Amino acid sequence: MKRYFIHTFGCQMNVNDTLRMSEALAKSGYAATVDYERADLIVLNTCAIREKAEDKMHSALGRYRQVKLQRGAVIGVGGCVAQQEKAKLLERSPWVDFVFGPDAIQNLPTILDRVAKDRVRVVDTAWVDSEEYVFPRADPETSRGKVTEFITIMKGCDNVCAFCVVPHTRGREVSRPFIDVLAETADLVKVGVREVTLIGQNVNSYRGGISFAQMLLRTCEVPGIERVRFTTSHPHDLSDELIEAFRVQPKIAPHFHLPVQSGSDPVLKRMRRDYTVEQYLERLAKLRAARPDIAVTTDVIVGFPGETEDDFQKTLELTERAQYDGQFSFVYSARPKTMALLKEEEWGVVPHEVKVERLDRLQALQKRISQQLNAQNVGRTLEVLVEGRSKTDETRRFGRTPQNRTVNFDGDAPAGAIVEVHIERSSASSLGGKQGRTLSSPAVVVPEKPIDADSCVVA
Ligand code: SF4
Repeated sequence: MKRYFIHTFGCQMNVNDTLRMSEALAKSGYAATVDYERADLIVLNTCAIREKAEDKMHSALGRYRQVKLQRGAVIGVGGCVAQQEKAKLLERSPWVDFVFGPDAIQNLPTILDRVAKDRVRVVDTAWVDSEEYVFPRADPETSRGKVTEFITIMKGCDNVCAFCVVPHTRGREVSRPFIDVLAETADLVKVGVREVTLIGQNVNSYRGGISFAQMLLRTCEVPGIERVRFTTSHPHDLSDELIEAFRVQPKIAPHFHLPVQSGSDPVLKRMRRDYTVEQYLERLAKLRAARPDIAVTTDVIVGFPGETEDDFQKTLELTERAQYDGQFSFVYSARPKTMALLKEEEWGVVPHEVKVERLDRLQALQKRISQQLNAQNVGRTLEVLVEGRSKTDETRRFGRTPQNRTVNFDGDAPAGAIVEVHIERSSASSLGGKQGRTLSSPAVVVPEKPIDADSCVVA
C-alpha cells in the first residue's frame, strides 16, 4: 500500500483541509505515515499569511527533495502559497510534481492519476464558481478519539484589509448550507465529540441560509453538543443579533476572538479595517455587558507602514483598556498583491529593528495582563471539558474552561467528561489544579489517541 505524509502549515482552516486531503487519499488507497522518509507521496499544505511561513515551506521542500531522489516520492504543494504562486512554484522547485489550490482538494485523486499515468506536472488552482462550490463533507471516523473538533462553515473573504493575502489565496466568501453544518455536527457527536468550533476566515459574515447568530443557536441545539465556539471574526460583523445570542444561549462558549489589529485610527484607516477604536470598544463593551463571564482575545499587527511611536502608544493604551485574556501579535510582513505593499514607500517603511522592539513591548504588556487575569482564578472552582492527557505532564489530565483557558490538573476523569477543577496555580497561558466533582460523563467512550498521533506535522 502506498503511503502519504502531509506537512501542514498555518491556521485551523489548513488543519481541517489536511483532514479532508487525508480522507480523499484514503479513498485512493493511500495509507498515512508519520515518517516522511518512508512516504511515496508528500503533500505540503501551505500558509502565505507572512513571509516567514512561506520561507518555512521552501526549506521543507528542500528537505523533501532528498526523499524524491532516494525513493522517487511524488511531491505536491497545496494551500495558500500554491494558490498565490501557481506554476511559478514548479519553475522555482523543479522536483515538485503538482500544485493545487484550496478549491481543488477533492481533485487530488485525479491529479495523482495524471502525474502517475500521463507523467505530467499539474497545476490546478482554478477557483470553483461560488454557486457550484461544494464543501467537502468530513468523515466522522476521522474525529473518533477527539472530544473537540473544527467544522468549516465558510471559505474566502470579501473584505480587503490592506495587509492580507486571504482574499487572493482563498477567494470570495462562500457559506456552507446550514443543514450540512448541522448534519456534520450530529455525526461528530456520534463519535464522541462534545464541543465544536465553527471556522472560516470571516465566520460572522456567514450567509448559509440563516444568519450566523442563528447558525450558532441551531448548532447548540444538536443533541449531545455541550459547547460551540467559532473563529475568526471581523469587528464590523459583530451584530446586536450575535451579542443577543451570547446573552441567551449558555452553550455558546464565552470566548470571543475579535482581531483589532491596531489601536490607532489613522493606522486602522490605512489597513482598511472599517471601524474606529471607539466603535470597536463600544461593541466590546456591549458584548461584555451581555455575557459578563466572556474571555476576549485578539490579533495585533505591529509596524504597519507609516506607524509612528504615537500610533504604537495607542495600541498599548488599547491593550490596557481592553484587558484581553490573550493576544496574537506579529510584526507587519509585506505580502504580494496587497494594498499595503503597493503603498509601503508612500506611507513609510518601519525599520525591522523598530518593529521587533515594539513587538517586545506589546507582548510584555499583554503577558502581564494575562498573568493578572489568570491569577484571579486561583482558589476558584472551574468547569473543565476533559480532552485527555496533559501535553506538558503525562501524569496529569488536560482540558479547557468555557473561556478557552487551558487547565492541567491532577485527576483521572476520562476524555469527554465535564468536571469541576479547584484551581491552585496559574501562569500567563494556563491554570493548574485538582479534579473535583464530575458534572457530566461522556455519552461515547473516547479512546484517547497518543499525543501527536496524526499523520501530519503542523508547523
Ligand atoms: S477580514 Fe481577515 S481574512 Fe479577510 S481580508 Fe481582513 S484580515 Fe484578511
